[in-house]
Amino acid sequence: MKTRIIAILTGNGKGKTTSAVGTIIRALGHGHRVLLLQFMKETESGEIKFLKTLRNPNLKIIQSGRGFFKIKGDHSTEETHKKYATLAIKLLQKELKSFSPTLTVLDEINTACSLGLTDAKQVVESIMKNPKTHFILTGRNAPKEFRTIANLITEMKEVKHPFNEGIHAQAGMEF
Ligand code: ATP
Ligand code: MG
Repeated sequence: MKTRIIAILTGNGKGKTTSAVGTIIRALGHGHRVLLLQFMKETESGEIKFLKTLRNPNLKIIQSGRGFFKIKGDHSTEETHKKYATLAIKLLQKELKSFSPTLTVLDEINTACSLGLTDAKQVVESIMKNPKTHFILTGRNAPKEFRTIANLITEMKEVKHPFNEGIHAQAGMEF
């Protein structure tokens, strides 16, 4: 029996988004349809630039965010951050119906929920209404609502990170 997977990639260590992107590539290789919806993001990291060059009709990429929230680099009001998160949820509901993905990746959804930009319950509702699509939920501090329904949870554990040695994020490694 094929069972759909609800996966959470969380924790402080590096590797959540890149792991999700690896699974996207894997699914596309099988001709599956993939929806990648990024919360809180407004700039295209290397993997997004690359995936777009594929022009693969089985892949839909949506970014709906304004970047950093309440930390250095935040250039938007709380209201604006919330507006983009609310829009992302609307687009999720729409695409689950119209695009009918085999795999749905909600990147940074854990962070968006834990910071109060959107409500985990709404996401859970969408997941439960769509029992045929696999879900991957990434970001730190995955809320308990997600942990309850997930059947795969991986906590990335930071052992060392160059950031702590004052080494800034580098293109091709961190973004
Ligand atoms: P990646 O996108 O490399 O898989 P991630 O998705 O696990 O990382 P996020 O929590 O989304 O990491 O963080 C976004 C950025 O912060 C990434 O560029 C990542 O390299 C960096 N980062 C991840 N973990 C840490 C850490 N422990 N300290 C500082 N920066 C980190
Ligand atoms: Mg990430």
